[in-house]
Amino acid sequence: MTVLVLGGAGYIGSHTVDRLIEKGFDVAVIDNLVTGHRAAVNDHARFYYGDVRDTNFLEQVFTTEKIDSVVHFAAFSVVPESMRAPLKYFDNNTAGMINLLEVMERHNVKQIVFSSTAATYGEPKQIPIKETDPQVPTNPYGESKLAMEKIMHWADLAYGIKFVALRYFNVAGAKADGTIGEDHHPETHLVPIILQVAAGERDELKIFGSDYPTKDGTNVRDYVHVVDLADAHILALAYLAKGGASDAFNLGSATGFSNQEILEAARKVTGQPIPATKAPRRPGDPATLIAASDKARATLGWQPQYDNIQEIIRTAWNWKQSHPHGYGEAK
Ligand code: UDP
Repeated sequence: MTVLVLGGAGYIGSHTVDRLIEKGFDVAVIDNLVTGHRAAVNDHARFYYGDVRDTNFLEQVFTTEKIDSVVHFAAFSVVPESMRAPLKYFDNNTAGMINLLEVMERHNVKQIVFSSTAATYGEPKQIPIKETDPQVPTNPYGESKLAMEKIMHWADLAYGIKFVALRYFNVAGAKADGTIGEDHHPETHLVPIILQVAAGERDELKIFGSDYPTKDGTNVRDYVHVVDLADAHILALAYLAKGGASDAFNLGSATGFSNQEILEAARKVTGQPIPATKAPRRPGDPATLIAASDKARATLGWQPQYDNIQEIIRTAWNWKQSHPHGYGEAK
């Protein structure tokens, strides 16, 4: 079975490609390397350099390869940037999805697993967040991904293209052997920023907001290890291959950690003091985001292997120490 992974050179995409190869799938990867890294892509995957919005390029790949199913990660994902440049997000993310579905339809490819996000829910009405809860995004990034979910819904009704939308909560960690990991420019996510401080690359962590209605006043988030997340995509492919109906699933641990708790866990793992200061709230941050993820467990058979936040951080630290400059590519 040949799986086409769009965005397979990114953080989650590269771990998914790696797991697909480990499990014996035949894998082709598309990436425009705007945020991804060529070196992150497992050597056993065939790599095509190009953009999801480029119809001729997609046509060429779908003609060369005999694709059975698609996993789609190729999207921009930085919330503050999306506030400043919404059209960039609707163009790459949403228009890119339309282009992809058109090419899939022409080539009779009928299964897609899609990387969606908790950002499609916006400010939650209840915790934990269920898949059936209202989706009211508070930023263009979440809106662009919600639109992609809706477009897939109508493409299913019209063309029978079946989809699984996986709504990620917070992702962290790296492959246990430290050969692939997270490398964003600029880095905006909590765990890698904390580890940059631990490694002496930054002076301190700024904790955005300490007066939230949470246990210690800092935001609470739900963390999943990137390899567990990758495995959920493979289970979703199996679900679709068995004739599963189009559906959406949260991917979270159902456990919340505050930013302060993440900091303390990272201090334990690294043995470094990791200076931190209080900073103003970051606009658009909900106080608490925790997923109800029993649906993915029950329907997809998802069983995350990492249930300890220190272990998750330890794998990210392992990657950081073995790759102090990430993939070290000129950007
Ligand atoms: N955060 C922080 N300092 C930073 C980066 C992030 O306090 O330098 C906080 C952020 O406000 C949020 C949490 O860490 O409460 C997780 O943020 P991240 O950007 O990693 O993921 P998000 O929850 O936005 O998807």
